[in-house]
Amino acid sequence: MLEKKHYEYREKIRAFALEKIEPLAKTLDLEQRFPYEHIKPLTEMGLLSCLIPKKYGGQPVDTISYSIAVEEISRVCGSTGIMIAAHNSLGTFPILRFGTEEQREKYLSRAAQGELLAFGLSEPDAGSDAGGTRTMAHKVDDGWVINGSKCWITSATVAFAVVATARTSDNPEDRRITSFILEKEWEGYSVGKKENKLGLRGSDTAFLHFDDLKVSEDSILGKEGEGFKQMLTTLDGGRISIGAMALGLAQGALDCALKYAADRVQFGKPIIYNQAIQHKLADMATEIEGARLMIYDSARRKDAGEDFVQQSAMCKLYASEVGRRAAASAMDILGGIGYYTGPYPAERIWRDVKLCEIGEGTSEIQRLVIAREMLKSLKEQR
Ligand SMILES: Cc1cc2nc3c(=O)[nH]c(=O)nc-3n(C[C@H](O)[C@H](O)[C@H](O)COP(=O)(O)OP(=O)(O)OC[C@H]3O[C@@H](n4cnc5c(N)ncnc54)[C@H](O)[C@@H]3O)c2cc1C
Repeated sequence: MLEKKHYEYREKIRAFALEKIEPLAKTLDLEQRFPYEHIKPLTEMGLLSCLIPKKYGGQPVDTISYSIAVEEISRVCGSTGIMIAAHNSLGTFPILRFGTEEQREKYLSRAAQGELLAFGLSEPDAGSDAGGTRTMAHKVDDGWVINGSKCWITSATVAFAVVATARTSDNPEDRRITSFILEKEWEGYSVGKKENKLGLRGSDTAFLHFDDLKVSEDSILGKEGEGFKQMLTTLDGGRISIGAMALGLAQGALDCALKYAADRVQFGKPIIYNQAIQHKLADMATEIEGARLMIYDSARRKDAGEDFVQQSAMCKLYASEVGRRAAASAMDILGGIGYYTGPYPAERIWRDVKLCEIGEGTSEIQRLVIAREMLKSLKEQR
């Protein structure tokens, strides 16, 4: 499945991640601060424009390469990994796929220059049930007036614009939803305080509030009423990148546990010579490889124009659960020192990887998507 170019790309991103991203990872987590220093090198490497065509200033790569990029960055820093995944898959993708030429030129060219885009779907009362959005856009003569809040939005404090959903019918029975592109500088757009989180503490997550935010017709992404479908399509692709993030974190846990097991001496020999430790490492490596193949297969299907809805839900579900297990095994292998903040990344990975089972649809929701797709193909066969 992988070509020579993918191996070369991995080597390039791995070297970049070790030189530029890893040295700051611990500090970002401890100080809970956004990696502003990473924006310029990430932009130059093309990691903030992985999906943006060259004509808008992007450095596009195929979806396997993009997955490799998210994986290798997350392998050393989950906070930077989620920032890249959210910006590319959730911020730039819907504009590229559903936007007008004017919108693409306006927003994608800025995104390719390192200005971040966010994705505003979740609300306090509409999480898994994103169709229950309460944010309302009321039609006025020359546009729309938007009121509502979006919660836990990745990079909300730094993003220059967000693709956000709102209901566009005053009729409570009518759940028609529309996507809008909203800019941070516009009157009525405000950002809540950065949330204090278990993990990914370098990533800024915050509420967005829209208070009589007046926008023109040009702010609608695609057509009125198509927002929900657009968001579902966006999430299908986004799940590959969250899978890749979980994979990178799992690989980071294995890297750490393997080195530690080879160095740590107890009972007169490195602990890796105990079969119980070897089995843990072998299980981690085997599951990680399985997750990797699933992610690359989903990526390949996406680029080939094949149906990949079920596969992307499966790879996200599997990789995030593999990530949780790998992080827990790494903590086991490190013993007491694994529990301490700082010396080794195992505990940070353990905290960071949990998000992968929540964001872009929880594991329960992935199982619903997978089962729905299976039922659909059964019905088609009958
Ligand atoms: C760090 C972080 C970053 C995020 N970034 C973004 C972002 O950039 N943009 C954005 O829009 N959102 C973002 N989110 C929100 C995220 O997508 C939601 O948290 C997620 O979709 C789950 O919604 P919820 O938290 O409201 O949980 P709920 O929907 O309230 O679910 C609670 C529990 O009920 C279960 N559940 C719900 N419905 C069902 C069902 N039908 N069957 C079985 N079980 C069910 C869920 O699986 C879960 O276990 C982020 C969240 C976090 C923590």
